[in-house]
Amino acid sequence: MQTKQQQLDHLAAEIIEKGVCMELAQQATQLVMGDGNADTSIVFIGEAPGKNEDEQGKPFVGAAGRFLNEMLEAAHLQRSDVYITNIVKYRPPNNRDPSPEEKHDFWPYLMRQLEIINPTVVITLGRHSGAAFIPDLVISRDHGRARKVQYHSHEFLVIPLYHPAAALYNGSMRQVLIDDFLAASELARLQERP
Ligand code: URA
Repeated sequence: MQTKQQQLDHLAAEIIEKGVCMELAQQATQLVMGDGNADTSIVFIGEAPGKNEDEQGKPFVGAAGRFLNEMLEAAHLQRSDVYITNIVKYRPPNNRDPSPEEKHDFWPYLMRQLEIINPTVVITLGRHSGAAFIPDLVISRDHGRARKVQYHSHEFLVIPLYHPAAALYNGSMRQVLIDDFLAASELARLQERP
């Protein structure tokens, strides 16, 4: 029986072999599959890797990642307690937003990633990531509100949050994100399977 991490490693190899989003792949340094603990019940999902992530091969390692780490610490969580990934797993050139096609092409792989990890709670970071799970999302209205999402036989709670990069330098949004983050972590703890 393969560990969840081994299954994720095979999935990463399949993405490369099948040439998913080949154009992005050719411009990127590497695939940024995810980071953290595959046996967790909490998964964070951002949009796409940026420059630092592309260089280091791990999601959320730049300024937004440092803010994410601070919030995890405030919630008494470590990166090794959770799993962090993005919808699109190659850096879009010049940090542009990932296109609808790129998100569409990576979606089945993100779903397989979630099927392997089987979390109880998915915390989306940013409007684009949230809207991928909650099509009628209005982030200013819905941030912090959990919704049940069903995918095949899997069910999990999705909690859409503001993106740490957007909230980093915006005082009021920053506080809203911190408050939402702590509430979401608390809710996630309550959802943990025994
Ligand atoms: N922003 C994202 O959405 N993902 C990262 O990995 C880094 C910044």
